[in-house]
Amino acid sequence: MDVRSWLSLAADSVRRWEAGHPPYQVHPSLEVSDERFAAAFGALADRMAGNYPYFHPSYAGQMLKPPHPAAAAAYLAAMLVNPNNHALDGGKVTSELEKEAVARLAAMFGLPAHLGHLTSSGTIANLEALWVARELHPGRGVAYSEDAHYTHGRMCGVLGMPGTAVPADAAGRIDVGALDELLAGGRIGTVVATAGTTGLGAIDPVHEVLEVARRHGARVHVDAAYGGFFTILAGQPGRAGLDPRPWRAIAGCDSVVVDPHKHGLQPYGCGAVLFADPSVGRLYAHDSPYTYFTSDELHLGEISLECSRAGAAAAALWLTLELFPLAPDGLGRVLAACREAALDLTGLLAASGRLRLYQPPELDIVSYFPAGGRDSLSAIDEASARLLAAGMADPAGPVFVSTLTVTAGAFARRHPAVAADRDSARILRSVLMKPEALTYAGELFRRLERLATPP
Ligand SMILES: *Cc1c(COP(=O)(O)O)cnc(C)c1O
Repeated sequence: MDVRSWLSLAADSVRRWEAGHPPYQVHPSLEVSDERFAAAFGALADRMAGNYPYFHPSYAGQMLKPPHPAAAAAYLAAMLVNPNNHALDGGKVTSELEKEAVARLAAMFGLPAHLGHLTSSGTIANLEALWVARELHPGRGVAYSEDAHYTHGRMCGVLGMPGTAVPADAAGRIDVGALDELLAGGRIGTVVATAGTTGLGAIDPVHEVLEVARRHGARVHVDAAYGGFFTILAGQPGRAGLDPRPWRAIAGCDSVVVDPHKHGLQPYGCGAVLFADPSVGRLYAHDSPYTYFTSDELHLGEISLECSRAGAAAAALWLTLELFPLAPDGLGRVLAACREAALDLTGLLAASGRLRLYQPPELDIVSYFPAGGRDSLSAIDEASARLLAAGMADPAGPVFVSTLTVTAGAFARRHPAVAADRDSARILRSVLMKPEALTYAGELFRRLERLATPP
């Protein structure tokens, strides 16, 4: 598995395709000598060396990792052609690849029918789902958990819809009782359930949310930007298997968002939105004087709020899904390793005197905080920040985690003995979204425990 030989295979395939067309001259204005290129590229390579090592298991900070080399090769092969999946004219082949890849995502969630497309991000995918919700329930608001991604509150502002945060319970999941009460007021048209929160990886009980929402005549949108691919592990035997109920319920919801650029091995620029009712496509109806003239077939730009989109993103996802089918023995093996890494780290934290688990992980995000000293929020906040900095400065080589700010109320629901001497505190968070985290979990734990100072 050599990314360089795969990238040259990709570049060669494009050169061969170009050579099948009549020769022409590249305009002198575009010419760059190899020497000038090498000098400028050297400067870029030097700058890029300043990145954190997202590829390495010692990087367990944010949701970052390189794409699979196969995705990179497919992206390059398509990007050198640079199709635009806005219209079939611009993305003749890659639009087909996108429709096939999206159909596979829909099948993964068990949607009986679907209309969907890739987007440039989870943010835009969620925006589209909320926009459709507004068109179908004009004048009514959106409810989401207080632990939902901040984009929902912000996009409600963009769309001019009232957004309401519902309290989360002691596991970081939406409080279904509080949601029921809110919906009884009749002002909410759509509920957002998060299948894998960005902070803690908590899974809202989608099945319960769906039942309550339907009773009150509300839509349900599932934000599975981060967690969506874990649906492959629903009901699977073994340590990595997940309670199937929230995942199976997605098939009965109205829309779902998943980010292939998070757990789908893709480079950035690849989100997806899927609607269960294909007739919502009518809401997008518009006429364009510029495009859509080659056929009566569906142009993806006709069902998308974005115009230009990289056809290369579709090619990369399509090839990845050929190699890693959305099944337990395909991409599921990658996700299971991440989940098992989180469980291993959890087991080690449970026996530690210097670090304490904040709450058990539901997916592959582990939350914890320094312990063995003063049990107050201010001391824990400072010790967390110290550990974050000490990790990055470790002479043995940096180790990267992230901090998560939690409210005093949320902390007290999990650890009532800790003195709430401030409104919020930073705790530590490790995202173990690379399968290599599994063999590194012990080493990561030993390093963190060594670096931790008592609060
Ligand atoms: C990452 C994330 C988003 C935002 O997606 P982007 O691709 O970063 O724009 C939305 N919701 C959840 C739950 C996420 O984890």
